[in-house]
Amino acid sequence: MNKNTPLFTGMQNGLTTEVAIIGAGCSGLYTAYRLTVDAGRPGRDVQIFDMAEKLGGRLESIMMPGMDFWGELGGMRYLTSQKIVTTLIEEVFAAQMQPAAFPMGDPAKLLMYLRKQRFHQNDWQLEQAEGRQLATRYYLNSDDNGYNADQLFNKIIYDVLMADPWFVTNFPGKAEQTGPYDYAFYLTSEDWAVVKPALTYHFPASHYNLLKVNDIGFWNLIKDQVSQEGYAFLANAGGYYSNTINWNSAEAFPYMVGDFSSNPTYKTIEEGYDSIAYALANAYTDVADARIWSQNKLLTFTNVHPRSADFRYELLFLNLASNEQWKVYANTIVLAMPRKSLELLDQENFFFDVNQHAELNENIRSVIMEPAFKILMGFESPWWRQEPLNIDSGHSITDLPMRQCYYFGTNATGEPNSMLLGSYGDMTTQTFWKPLSDAKILFKPRATRSVALAQMKDFEEDQASQVMVDEVMDQLRELHGPEVDIPAPYITYFRDWTDDPYGAGYHAWKAGFDVRYVMRYMRKPFATESIHICGEAYSTQQGWVEGAFCVAENMLQEHFGLAWPTWLEEGYFLSW
Ligand code: FAD
Repeated sequence: MNKNTPLFTGMQNGLTTEVAIIGAGCSGLYTAYRLTVDAGRPGRDVQIFDMAEKLGGRLESIMMPGMDFWGELGGMRYLTSQKIVTTLIEEVFAAQMQPAAFPMGDPAKLLMYLRKQRFHQNDWQLEQAEGRQLATRYYLNSDDNGYNADQLFNKIIYDVLMADPWFVTNFPGKAEQTGPYDYAFYLTSEDWAVVKPALTYHFPASHYNLLKVNDIGFWNLIKDQVSQEGYAFLANAGGYYSNTINWNSAEAFPYMVGDFSSNPTYKTIEEGYDSIAYALANAYTDVADARIWSQNKLLTFTNVHPRSADFRYELLFLNLASNEQWKVYANTIVLAMPRKSLELLDQENFFFDVNQHAELNENIRSVIMEPAFKILMGFESPWWRQEPLNIDSGHSITDLPMRQCYYFGTNATGEPNSMLLGSYGDMTTQTFWKPLSDAKILFKPRATRSVALAQMKDFEEDQASQVMVDEVMDQLRELHGPEVDIPAPYITYFRDWTDDPYGAGYHAWKAGFDVRYVMRYMRKPFATESIHICGEAYSTQQGWVEGAFCVAENMLQEHFGLAWPTWLEEGYFLSW
C-alpha cells in the first residue's frame, strides 16, 4: 500500500473479531502492528475501523503541484530522544523511508517581530555578550530584563525548583545557573516523573504558597513569577500560545526544558512524516486477514445484545460511502482517538453514561483541547533567501495573529518553487482566523512557468479562503518589513484540526488532575470491561506522535500481556 492505494471502504454486517481498534491514527495502527506482527495474533483477531478517507489521523503529508518535496498539514518532525518513533523510522522501517534533517535555521537571520519592533532572534545574546540588555517594548520587572524567552522560561523553572527544599535535597546539582542569563537542567524523564507530582511552590509572599505545582496553572504561575507583562512577553516571543495557556505547570516544566538524557535533534522523513503511519499500516495489512475498514464511523457500542454468549460487545458503524449501518462483534474495544472523538460517540451508552460514570466523564475532560491550523503556501521562488533576509530555513516569530512562519523548502531540481508554512494558529488566535477560514470564496490557484492549471484541479477545494490568504500576506509583509518584496503565492492548502472528529490539534493537561493516575485510568477505565482508550491526548508527550506510541505501548504491556518490543532499547522510559 502506498499513499495513493485506494483504501477498503466496504462493510460486512455481523463481522466478528477479538480486538476492534477504532482509529487508524498513530496509536491505533501501532496497537494493531504490535498485536499482529510482534505478538503473532492472527489478522482476523485484530481489525481496524476508521471514519476518514485516509490513514494516519493527524499526520497528513501532501505534495503540492510544482513541488518535489512534501508539505505537512499535521505532525511534521520528531526528536531523536523519542525512542519509539526514532527506532521505527531509522531501524524497523529503514528500508521504506529515509530520515532527513529538519533544519531550524540561523538565529542571526531569523526574525522576531513583537509590538511592531523587529529583531533577529540572537539579538538578546549579542547584547548580553556586550554586557547590555536588549531593550524591548515590554515593561518587564527589572530583574527579568535582558532575557530572551527561552532564558526567562528557564529562569522561572529554575527559581521554582530551587525554592523547594525537597527538590534541593533530593536532586542536588540537577539544576544549575551557568551564566548571568543561562540555566541548565540535568533531569531525565524518570527524574521528572518523580518531581512532577511532588514539587511544591515555596514562595511565602504568594497566594499560591505551598500548593503543589501540579495544581497551579502555568499562566497563573508565570504571572506570579514575572508579572502579567512578563507573561505577555513569554507568550509572544515563545512563538506558541499553546505553551503558555493555563495548563498544568508540573507538566509544562519538562515540556519547556526538554529531556536531558540525550542531546536530541529534530528530524523528519524524506517521504513525508505520515510515512510512519503507512509503514505501520503496511506491516499490519501484510498479515493474513488483517483489514482496515476505512470510511466506517463508530456510532455506539453495547454489552447487551443477542450474541453476548460469544462476544462481549456489539459495535454499530455507519458506512459513510453507502450511508448504511452495520454491526461488528468483538471481545475487546480499543478507542484510539482524542477527547473530541470520544465525546462525539453515543454519550448515553453503558460506557459513557454520565449518571453512572462521572469519573470517566471527568477524566475525559482532564485535557484542554488546543486548536491548530496550517496553511501551506506555494511560491515560485524562495523569496526569503534573497537580500536582505538571507534566510535558509527555520521559523520567524511574531505577536501578529499568524504567530510563526516556517520557511519549509525549495525544489531540489527544476524551477525553484518553494513552500512556506504560512500560519500555525493556536488557542488565542483561533477566533481571529475562524471567520476568515469560513469565508466561502476560495483562493484561486494560478498557472506558473512549471505548473499548468490542469494540475491544480484536484487541489481547488483545499484552498484557503481568499480573505485568509490576503490577511496572511499582509501579516507576512509586516513581519518581514517594507524592504522585502513578497510575491503572491500560486497555490495554498489549508487544514483546520478543530474540525470533527478531532476538535483540536493537540491537548494539554489541566491543572489539578493527578496525571499519573488519569493516564493509567484511561487505558482501562473499568476493571470489569475490556475497553481501552489510547492516543496522544492522554499522554505525557502531548502534541507528539511519541506520546501516542508510549500510551499504546503501556496499554499493550499492561492489558494485553505483550512483552517489551525486541526492537526497542531496554529500559526506555514509557512514562506513567
Ligand atoms: P489521531 O491521529 O487523532 O487518530 C484518531 C483517529 O480516529 C483518526 O484517524 C480518526 O479519523 C479516527 N476516529 C475518530 N473518531 C472515530 C469514529 N467515531 N469512528 C471511526 N474512526 C474515528 N507530532 C509530532 O510527533 N511531531 C510534530 O511535529 C507534530 N506537529 C503537529 C502539528 C499539528 C498541526 C498537529 C495537529 C499535530 C502535530 N503533532 C505532531 C501531533 C501528532 O500528529 C499526534 O500526536 C498524533 O498523530 C496523534 O495520534 P493518535 O493516534 O493519538 O490520534
